Amino acid sequence: MLEEPILVSAVTAYLVLVALLIGSFINLAADRLPRGESVVRPRSHCRSCGRVLDAVDLIPIGGYLIRGGRCASCRASIGISSPAVEALCGAAMLASVAAMGPWRGAALGFAALSMLGGIVLRVALRRAKRGSQPG
Ligand SMILES: [Zn+2]
Repeated sequence: MLEEPILVSAVTAYLVLVALLIGSFINLAADRLPRGESVVRPRSHCRSCGRVLDAVDLIPIGGYLIRGGRCASCRASIGISSPAVEALCGAAMLASVAAMGPWRGAALGFAALSMLGGIVLRVALRRAKRGSQPG
């Protein structure tokens, strides 16, 4: 049944969407965990002005493009790493599903996402540690 092209396309689109959202969460975790903050509360907000992010801001990659890479109220730069991590996650899932089909591709894709998440978090923690050292 899952060999139907329309179903394969729908499942692929769904898996890529989930991968983009996981990428978005990886960004949140990489931003907050090195500061010892919760990944649950408060709601996502601008680090400069505190504005709570809305639905447009939270669209993976699209939110960054729509807002021109800046906060909608204070115009603070968001940084290219957020959409880059999201794009990498979406591409990893798409490549896995394209290479191995929806089932095994999804398994490989999620494995790739957890590796990516681990790498991004490690880089963020290392940066935070370096930033907090004097000199
Ligand atoms: Zn702002």
